[in-house]
Amino acid sequence: MSDQATDQGPPQLTPLTEDWQRALCIVAHPDDMEFGGAAAVARWTGQGKDVVYCMVTSGEAGIDGMHPKECKTVREAEQVESARIVGVDVVEFLEQPDGILEYGVPLRRAIAAVVRKHRPEIVITNNFRDSWGGESLNQADHIATGKATLDAVRDAGNRWVFAEQVEGGLEPWGGVKQVWAAGSPNGGHGVDITDTFNVGVESLRAHGAYIDGLGWENFDPAEFLEGMSRATGSRMGVTHAAPFEVFKMGWGD
Ligand SMILES: [Zn+2]
Repeated sequence: MSDQATDQGPPQLTPLTEDWQRALCIVAHPDDMEFGGAAAVARWTGQGKDVVYCMVTSGEAGIDGMHPKECKTVREAEQVESARIVGVDVVEFLEQPDGILEYGVPLRRAIAAVVRKHRPEIVITNNFRDSWGGESLNQADHIATGKATLDAVRDAGNRWVFAEQVEGGLEPWGGVKQVWAAGSPNGGHGVDITDTFNVGVESLRAHGAYIDGLGWENFDPAEFLEGMSRATGSRMGVTHAAPFEVFKMGWGD
């Protein structure tokens, strides 16, 4: 790296558009929104926007010392509470198998149905690049979910793709303008979450059984989230921010 690049630091982030009313967040696991995007969701629901959560799995394979049957119930309840804290009243669970999600047509089908049902203008998913930046590898379910979400958004607008859903009464929906991937290392956009940072921390704390199960000694949700949000905030000239990668759907604008 040249001295000049060091002096300049990472590039500034562009604020995400807030010219929309309905967003749908599609992520692999309970806790995925809370490890980065939830404070942004709190900002948007505070503006009167409608945000719906869709969990592809119930995170039932996420706690080593708890059988998936029990874990599913515990984690779904934690997610519903966590969503409530940031102003999200609807949480869908697609009940796909945690840990072994496969990118492909069945996953696209399941996600397209949710997009058609909720008719969002913005779809939010998790980072689905190979890493979180540096050496920190991403997880297979996140990658499968993000890729399938990007494709399912387009599938949802085509009445001849998954036509059985249209026959069953779900109208095609081609109104998604952008897909946003939270926490992507390629993100060029960001959201100022200074005012809702604490609410975001509370929503992560709601995953108590999961956090205990991780067995990370002295894990503090506030400290963890702060480490990321302050670094991102400095790229927007604010105290706390969350980074997103933007995928524009459709042609042109
Ligand atoms: Zn996850």
